[in-house]
Amino acid sequence: MDPEDFKQMAKEAIDYIVDYIESVGNRAVLPNVEPGYLHHIIPKEAPEHPDDWRQIIPDIEEKIMPGITHWNSPMFNAYFPGGYSYPSVIGDLLSSGIGCIGFNWLLSPACTELEVIVLDWLAKMMDLPDFYLASSDGPGGGIIQTSGSEGILVALLIAKHKLTRQILENDPSLDENTIKGKLIAYSCDQSNSCVEKAGLLGSMKTRLLQADNAGRLVASTLLDAITQDKENGLIPCFVVATLGTTGTCAFDDLSEIGPICRREGIWLHVDAAYAGAAFICPEYRYLMKGIELSDSVNMNPHKWLLVNFDCSAFWIKDRRYIQEAFSVDRIYLRDRGECIEKWAPDFRNWEISLGRRFRALKLWFTLRLYGVSGLQDYIRNHISLAKYFETLVRKDTRFEIVSPASMGLVCFRMKGPNMLTSDLLKIILESRKIFVNQGKFGEKNFIRYVICSRIMCKDDVDRGWEIISSHADIIRPKQS
Ligand code: PLP
Repeated sequence: MDPEDFKQMAKEAIDYIVDYIESVGNRAVLPNVEPGYLHHIIPKEAPEHPDDWRQIIPDIEEKIMPGITHWNSPMFNAYFPGGYSYPSVIGDLLSSGIGCIGFNWLLSPACTELEVIVLDWLAKMMDLPDFYLASSDGPGGGIIQTSGSEGILVALLIAKHKLTRQILENDPSLDENTIKGKLIAYSCDQSNSCVEKAGLLGSMKTRLLQADNAGRLVASTLLDAITQDKENGLIPCFVVATLGTTGTCAFDDLSEIGPICRREGIWLHVDAAYAGAAFICPEYRYLMKGIELSDSVNMNPHKWLLVNFDCSAFWIKDRRYIQEAFSVDRIYLRDRGECIEKWAPDFRNWEISLGRRFRALKLWFTLRLYGVSGLQDYIRNHISLAKYFETLVRKDTRFEIVSPASMGLVCFRMKGPNMLTSDLLKIILESRKIFVNQGKFGEKNFIRYVICSRIMCKDDVDRGWEIISSHADIIRPKQS
């Protein structure tokens, strides 16, 4: 492809993207294809000779789009938002266009340094404790990880390394593997599946403790588990508290959990993957009371802050622990002397992979082109739309609210046996008109309705509710 073809194809691709996004609400949100559909329409071999680029763009509409679930549709109301905005897309485009891989500072100083700076911006926007800022006097700082899952695994591995070292320093006669085999992690049974996965991948026993009636991890439950495990010879090492659980968007109380972790010398990681974005609005910061007792935090701009996947912010109170746990030396990786300057770290020592993209660009573009006030408006609008949806549900006596609207999430169900709600969900999904997903809390199955799309408005909520309630007529007609 020569530069002129590149320019033309890029223009066509941008036009296509804009047309797609601006009309995405007209498409059925869920695809109507059978598993393996693509295999029947894409050639079995790569072309022997170059294709003409003009043939490729039409293939997107004909072959790829039928197999796309439209995350940006106002009728996509499942999971949590997949961040998306034009500034972010342009940032990503430039990241690919520049094509640097910045695992060491020298491999593109701007790639590393912009990341340090924008994570400081973001930490300040959220009013995180000063110790998480590179600009503070302490050894804290932030990095963009690929995902929340990776951030939590990284935190677990650091906690494991730190505590093992500490125990060995106190008693060098102990066996390292024996210590590691006794370490144990805790979280709530409502925490995201990635917490359990981090335990699996990091080879640490993990207890998922029972939530209270509001879906939160309670201090007394944690304390009982710690006491019991210590009596059984285990060593409490790591706690993940969640601010905004995936199921019902519940908030663990850090001001209760934090002091326990401090007293017991346990690493406290805070997973605010989704709801952390709301802390850019001062009125929601009360939900993170106690955050000053944490050791690390993750929040996903790629969920609720309009940044395209992948962009997961991760902050650590003392970056020396991450460097101690993750540094591996090879002569070919050494391109300057010791690198510990807070504005110019070698990020390969902070993460699992070696290669890394210039992800800070899309975060930078999004923060600059929306501004803090633009992002606050966006968050507040989503929260008010969720409250509006809740009022619609409450008006229909066939339904009950399982947990009141929390951030952009509303959990509701049909009154009566779970089967009614499951049947309703099934026929809604078959219609492909709206995408909602299910949750379970205690004995109750429910439907999660989440305000996801950047372009959602009140009419879309009305339309969504109309689709849901008309399908409910099939299960249980409204009484006149
Ligand atoms: N934590 C919470 C509360 C989540 O809701 C999710 C995903 O939905 C995650 C962590 C995992 O994030 P990621 O998909 O970036 O790994």
